[in-house]
Amino acid sequence: MYDKLFINGDWVAPRCGKTLAVINPATEEVIAEVAAGGAADVDRAVAAAKQAFTGWSKTSGAQRGVYLRAIARAIEARAQELAALSSSNNGKPLFEAQIDIEDAIATWDYYAGLAEQLDARQNAEVPLAMPGYRSSSRLEPAGVVGLIVPWNFPFVTTAWKVAPALAAGCTLVLKPSEVTPLVELQLGTIAQSVGLPAGVINIVCGSGSDVGSALTVHPDIAKISFTGSNRVGEIVMQSVAKQVKGLSLELGGKSPMLVMDDADLDQATDWILGGIFYNAGQMCSATSRLLLHDSIAPKLLQRLKTATQALKLGDAFEEGVQMGPLTSKAQFDTVMGYIERGRAEGLTLLTGGTRAEGFERGYFIEPTIFVDVPTDSALWREEIFGPVLCVRTFSSEAEAIELANDSDFGLAAGIISQDSARAQRIAEQLQAGHIWINSLQVVCPETSWGGFKRSGIGRELGPWGLSAYQEVKHITRPLSELESN
Ligand code: NDP
Repeated sequence: MYDKLFINGDWVAPRCGKTLAVINPATEEVIAEVAAGGAADVDRAVAAAKQAFTGWSKTSGAQRGVYLRAIARAIEARAQELAALSSSNNGKPLFEAQIDIEDAIATWDYYAGLAEQLDARQNAEVPLAMPGYRSSSRLEPAGVVGLIVPWNFPFVTTAWKVAPALAAGCTLVLKPSEVTPLVELQLGTIAQSVGLPAGVINIVCGSGSDVGSALTVHPDIAKISFTGSNRVGEIVMQSVAKQVKGLSLELGGKSPMLVMDDADLDQATDWILGGIFYNAGQMCSATSRLLLHDSIAPKLLQRLKTATQALKLGDAFEEGVQMGPLTSKAQFDTVMGYIERGRAEGLTLLTGGTRAEGFERGYFIEPTIFVDVPTDSALWREEIFGPVLCVRTFSSEAEAIELANDSDFGLAAGIISQDSARAQRIAEQLQAGHIWINSLQVVCPETSWGGFKRSGIGRELGPWGLSAYQEVKHITRPLSELESN
């Protein structure tokens, strides 16, 4: 299967004959060779999706809901196998990969529910102030969509795009990251196992410059939904502009965690560590800028240092492992580059700052904390996408809010305080798409996902995630015509 692409309901050999070596980042061993497509394969996949759109777009929401639920059950039946595959490719501890698969299942079920509700919403009358006319609205699928995903949460990011696209009645071509294609390819086998009509889902692995860019310029693609870096997001935006395609962008973050003077320090320690070291910090929503009230800073930093040094690093399948390696050599080099830059800037290290000891192989980096980081430091301002936390202190609520909002990004934020009214007041002033009060990265299918400022354009999840794949159509006519018929 890995030597094929999933096009028109079948596994087919790519036309360009390239392969991608897929690596286990804990061992640096090649675990699979995956077929890589090119522009000619994108053409085939888009043609299949276009043909399938004719039938799929006319199915009822209820019918599509049946397929989405079947996909959720098929994933559930293979949950352990999929989690293990994801861990071996991404490097994340097995319990994290299991959470990913559970999140994906919840997303498929949620959009099955929204698909089922769609039929009752079609041709809904829209009250008009103007007399003499009646207007009704329809929600129609956007068309054939191109979905481009990164490597940090494979199968989850994919579910966030594929499930609402199918629920809306779109057909699609998915391009997984070349780093983590293994678990994404399983979606092809799952589509086959539930009897999804051929061409509704197509999967073309390959590089961004071959497959990704071919998708963004393809004239038969109505919309691109992209999750990834700002650098590539800008390229994608320029690419789709030429054909005025629809576009959703889920990009980077540099999210703040604000810890107020009344915080429970034990809880705060857990949430701070989880917010930056889960998935080895490779999270767009990582709370990588820590803002501490200066009255609690010395005590909390001591706890953070002790707890960070106690984290168990290792292979995803080892008992008790809390943090795995970085997912690729390229990401390892990027993160080490930022750590070197921090040293060169003369930043103060609280802990970490080196390649993790005791590992002969694998892209392991010690969980790292820099303190008193100036706001003009690259480490404070840029997304590192690794296990590196930057800390500053503040002395007033107003200062904390100002520091938190002083960023090009606005994806997420955390607030830790035992004063509920105060936490709410702060949350309302933060410029970010999702704020967590006294909780850790809680993301549910019902809530939106996306950012303010340069963290992206549009929202995934919730009803907003479905709207992203729909066109709104109004049908307006004179009342007199209706009355005479
Ligand atoms: P990249 O931007 O490097 O890649 C993302 C995807 O785009 C990959 O599939 C990549 O292909 C593809 N791609 C690369 N070049 C092009 C191109 N010219 N045209 C079209 N597609 C292209 O991001 P990473 O994979 O490194 O992921 C990390 C980034 O993703 C971080 O910045 C992170 O913040 C962001 N992210 C944002 C999330 C959000 O919800 N806001 C969630 C998760 C991550 P390939 O890699 O196969 O070459």
